[in-house]
Amino acid sequence: MLCLACKHLNPRTASSCEICRTPLPSREPPPPIFTNLNKIRTAIAQVTRGEITFTQFEELVAGLEKLFREKLAEVSGISIPDDMIAEMKDEMDVGTEGIKIYLQSLVPLRRYLEEHNVDYLSQGLALAEVANNKMNQALLLNWRAFRSLQESAEEYISTNTV
Ligand SMILES: [Zn+2]
Repeated sequence: MLCLACKHLNPRTASSCEICRTPLPSREPPPPIFTNLNKIRTAIAQVTRGEITFTQFEELVAGLEKLFREKLAEVSGISIPDDMIAEMKDEMDVGTEGIKIYLQSLVPLRRYLEEHNVDYLSQGLALAEVANNKMNQALLLNWRAFRSLQESAEEYISTNTV
């Protein structure tokens, strides 16, 4: 598989570049990620059962907000090389949308702390689920874009070295 960082052509089974150690995308699509969704799900269950205090819940929400804001800043700071805009634009758009929806999901969670209505928890969780789906969609788009870049590069090399 072609390393897009150093242009070395690696064996098909390599998981990272033999020369520069850059991780190479797997032939299989990446497994979905649920880390932040599970954090929110667990916090909601715990605060509902009284296993954590409102203050602890608030701290958790604040921590997630910080994380999502950092991610958003990170994503908007990425400059895409011109020749990759087409492949990466969808992924960036979907990923950015996902982070924004994650941030929105924290609003009803905070409202729960003021109004103690469990409907706000369900609203927050529903939004977090949408956000998580978007993030996994972006992950898949990223994998596909890099796979197709690599496949076309490999094809180009094999037809031009014969
Ligand atoms: Zn490399």
